[in-house]
Amino acid sequence: MHAKTERLLKPACRSRGGARVPHNKNAAESPTRHIPLPETVAVPMRQHIGAPCLPLVKPGDKVTVGQRIGDADAPVCAPIHAGVSGEVVAVEPRPSYSGAMTDTVVIAPDGLQTDCPDLRPVTVNTAEELVQAARDCGLVGLGGAGFPTHIKLTPTQSQPIDTLIINAAECEPYITSDYRAIMEEAPLILQGVYTLLRCLGVQRVIIGVEDNKPKAIEALLRIAADEQDLQNRVQVMKLPSHYPHGAEKILVLATTGRRVPMGKLPASVGCAVMNITGVAVLQHYLNTGMPLTRRRLTVDGPAVADPQNLWVPVGVSIRHVLNQVELIAPPTKILMGGPMMGIAQLSPDMPVLKQNNAILAFDAAHDLSDKQQAPCIRCGRCASACPMSLMPTLIERFAKINDVENLRRVGVGICMECGSCAYNCPAHRPLVQYMRLAKEIERKGRG
Ligand code: SF4
Ligand code: SF4
Repeated sequence: MHAKTERLLKPACRSRGGARVPHNKNAAESPTRHIPLPETVAVPMRQHIGAPCLPLVKPGDKVTVGQRIGDADAPVCAPIHAGVSGEVVAVEPRPSYSGAMTDTVVIAPDGLQTDCPDLRPVTVNTAEELVQAARDCGLVGLGGAGFPTHIKLTPTQSQPIDTLIINAAECEPYITSDYRAIMEEAPLILQGVYTLLRCLGVQRVIIGVEDNKPKAIEALLRIAADEQDLQNRVQVMKLPSHYPHGAEKILVLATTGRRVPMGKLPASVGCAVMNITGVAVLQHYLNTGMPLTRRRLTVDGPAVADPQNLWVPVGVSIRHVLNQVELIAPPTKILMGGPMMGIAQLSPDMPVLKQNNAILAFDAAHDLSDKQQAPCIRCGRCASACPMSLMPTLIERFAKINDVENLRRVGVGICMECGSCAYNCPAHRPLVQYMRLAKEIERKGRG
């Protein structure tokens, strides 16, 4: 076994900008608990970037936990599996997070949680087999937009993947779901890290974690120092706790010094990035055949009296999840995800998706969405805060006049919607909303 100190790296490169956000990791020491099932769960067929799935079941069908209920042939797509056993009571279009209607499979749980009888352990020895397993598992990025993992693990023709980066940064305030995965599933993560190292044939694995999680760093160092790793290829990198170190491109830069070009994936610079919870989910699938059917969610926010981590089957409504915790006051704003990158929900009836890692509830006293916006005072703090060196004020101006050409010229496509600009703005300008709008205008302009 190698000394732990040999396994602990310093960042390869310092990123610019960002935000000094409060951590508020109130649920960090709260073990994940199971919740009772609701009367129905609604599983949308779009839970990832790419083509939506087509429903594989119809009303009246009986389903079991882990059964594939949606899939499509499109290259960028991940299958969707039932998280409850029971009967399909409807397959119908319902509103999704984007506002568009999405085919949704509605299941009435039978309370038995019967596993699908077809589930079997899966053996993988090659990169191709691992990529196929990641797809069959339905695995997507578990803290962000839900990009299918099997695409990320596939090398480009011109660039082999030499470095696997495991994202354990969890830099957004409140969220503790990855931290709890490390605390509760370290043996599974250890097994998963060495499966990935063996099958992908990468030269090294770097686990990036922020320095405000000493217990997690200890656990990860034990994984890195495991006797399987005779060549010291698995290492832990302690990153300064500065938002947004968990953003994929920032993490690649901090851990390897490589810059991912605009519009490209980390594979284009020889890297694959996986979330640490994703490592546990994939290894669990290999060991048991059980795909991704549930999420560990942090439920927190100023309206929550007892912040918790909960196991929630995909498709359970936010309302049902919030019913499992004690509220201080009725929520006036609910976010799926953290306060920096999370998406405000129009209705508590929206379902939990694969990529959700937190539900945050804000009461009227803490809901800052109505805070008076002031005109821009041209202080330049937004530009200084942008880790991608963008000029948010310029982008806001071009978005307002639908100037596609200039939006493209200033590189709006590389905006990660991290919110560092808005967080640092003394005039409380809704810059992230403008960034999203500008990206949409630029995307549509491409045709
Ligand atoms: S412009 Fe985009 S990438 Fe830059 S700070 Fe704002 S949200 Fe983040
Ligand atoms: S930080 Fe806010 S006030 Fe300052 S230049 Fe940017 S948008 Fe204007």
